[in-house]
This record gives sequence, C-alpha cells and structure tokens, in this order.
Amino acid sequence: MSILSWIENQRKLKLLNAPKYNHPESDVSQGLWTRCDHCGVILYIKHLKENQRVCFGCGYHLQMSSTERIDYLIDTGTWRPFDETVSPCDPLEFKDQKAYTERLKDAQERTGLQDAVQTGTGFLDGIPVALGVMDFNFMGGSMGSVVGEKITRLIEYATQEGLSVILVCASGGARMQEGILSLMQMAKISAALHVHQNCAKLLYISVLTSPTTGGVTASFAMLGDLIFAEPKALIGFAGRRVIEQTLQEQLPDDFQTAEYLLHHGLLDLIVPRSFLKQALSETITMYKEAPLKVHGRIPYGARGALTKIREEQLRRFIKSPKNSEYIQLISEFEELLSLLNVDKTIPSELEFSNPEIVKKAFDLACGTQTRLDWLNYDSKEFRVRSVF
Ligand SMILES: [Zn+2]
Repeated sequence: MSILSWIENQRKLKLLNAPKYNHPESDVSQGLWTRCDHCGVILYIKHLKENQRVCFGCGYHLQMSSTERIDYLIDTGTWRPFDETVSPCDPLEFKDQKAYTERLKDAQERTGLQDAVQTGTGFLDGIPVALGVMDFNFMGGSMGSVVGEKITRLIEYATQEGLSVILVCASGGARMQEGILSLMQMAKISAALHVHQNCAKLLYISVLTSPTTGGVTASFAMLGDLIFAEPKALIGFAGRRVIEQTLQEQLPDDFQTAEYLLHHGLLDLIVPRSFLKQALSETITMYKEAPLKVHGRIPYGARGALTKIREEQLRRFIKSPKNSEYIQLISEFEELLSLLNVDKTIPSELEFSNPEIVKKAFDLACGTQTRLDWLNYDSKEFRVRSVF
C-alpha cells in the first residue's frame, strides 16, 4: 500500500466513523447570534433553539436541521435510523465550478450526514411511525439517488409493517449533478407510495417546510393523504421569476406561500411548528379510530421475500389460526394454486412434491394482511410487534 492510498483510507475511515448525530459544531450559524430571515431582528441562538427556531419578533419559522427535527418529533430514545451508510456516488462524473464528489465531501463533513435525508422509525407520542426528514443544509436538500432510495426503502418497510409514514420535506428539487438518475427517484417513490396508500390502505402524511420546490413537490410532497405545511413556507415547482417570464404576468405577492396554497386547495392544514407533533399524533389517533376503514393488501409482486421472521410468524399462525384469517388464507392459497395450474383440491396435510410451489404459496399467504398489528382493535391501544 502506498502512502497516498493509506492516507486516502484513513480519510475514508474517519468519515465513516464520524458521529452522525448531535453536531453542535456543524450548525450553519456558527456563532452565538443569528438574524431572522424575515424581519431582520437579532436572535440569540440558544434561545432560538429552545423556541424550535421560531423568530421571537415576527413568528417566522427559520430552517431547522433534520436532527433537530427528529429530536423534536420523536420521543426521546426511540429513534432507530435506517440505511445510515448508504452514500452517493458520481455516475456522470459531473463537474461545474467544482467537482460533484468535492461538493459531496464538503456537505458530508459539514453536516455529518451521508446524504440529504434521514430516515428511520420511532415513537411519536407513543405511536410507532416511519419518519423521513430532509435536510436543507446538505446541498439544498436536493433529491439524488440516495435520497430516493432511502425514502423508498422507508416506505416499503412501513408498508410491510403497517406503519404510518411521515415525510418532512425541505428541498430545492432534484439533484442536477445526478441527471436522469435523480429524476427517476420521483417515479420510484411515487410507485412505493401507491402500494402503501392505495393497495395496503395505509396513511401517509407529508409535512412541507420552507422551501419545498422542484421534483420533490412534483412527486411525494404533494401525494400525502394529508398535506401539512408550516406557516409562510415557500412551496412551489418552478421559481417565481421563471413563471413570471413565461406567463408575462405579474404574480400576487403571496404567490407560492403555504397560505396561498391552502386558500387554493392544495394543502390540508397549516400547522405552526410548536403544534406539529400534537397535530400529527392526533391525526394518526383519529385515523386509528376511523370506523369505516378498509383493510388493504399488498399485491403479490410488491411483497417482501419470505424471511426467517415471516416463516416463523406463519408457523405460529398455522398452529393457532383465527377463523376469518384462516378462511382468507385458504382462499388465497386456492387462488395461487389455480394460477400455478396445480390441482385445486387441498390435501389435509400440506404435502407437495414441488417445494418451490409451497414456498411461493407461503410467501403469498403470509403476506396477505398488511399487518396493522400496532392497532389493537380490542383494547384500541398501540403496540409494536416488529422489534427485531
Ligand atoms: Zn423575525
């Protein structure tokens, strides 16, 4: 190993071992004081943080880092991050004034994150949720392949486990340095959300913070079953100047603000930051109590593989079947057998010559319920089954 490659290895190791959370030193506002972006009043950062970065003078919601947001939304000690080590690469070898890899390295060192989103699960007022929070400090919260992949994995996990998804958006749009690979993420996330919302009939809430623009607005930000926004947040697709030049028209002053969008029916609710956690927990509780809720199913192709845990769950289920579940299991099983062109008569013992068919059947059967198990219908309490 040459000295240069040894140095390079050390640098990589240092980056990998860098602490991922609680970086007071990586705060954008390095000093003790900062200025409100809206009214210009000078604010003491310590007090500002205690006030969840809401200006004391005018109530303007300043930008919050993803870690601060998670600390605020998730109950202490319950956050379980996902895919922390997934890092972006540079497929186009993109270079403008600065190489893309350089920009990435700077942003990673400055924020302590690998890319512009943090995903994971945790309790929100005791309710298990899957949460994704974008970080505007990392290259303007732009959505590259890593952001798309992490959000998709989060949604897919939530679908399998029957959790509600909350995505807090703060983004300048798709990441131009990754070209088409960024744009593909829009479709990928939307497809995962389709399974989550329309097939599994699970809840997805998007929270739009300032700014939410470009490809993020055009995909998952506006797909929420419920869309919340922070007061005066900038939400739009193209910039104001571009639209004015295209339309050759003067746009209203409050154009692309949360209030304007709410007035025109694009948002459901504007929630001040101090009430956000409460609003989310009350919404999910209300969703839990909804009397006419339809139970969904995950389509066969979108189900996860038969893992060891599922296999065990199935084994236990077969040993103690609840009547209705058992009937559904059998009907699905018959459906599958007809699809596979196997004789429809089911033997009393599960004896098949072809183990592949049995494996497929089990896979189909054990994934039928969307496992809304955290909603206990008898006691109406939340509980978590999947703590691995
Ligand atoms: Zn202010």
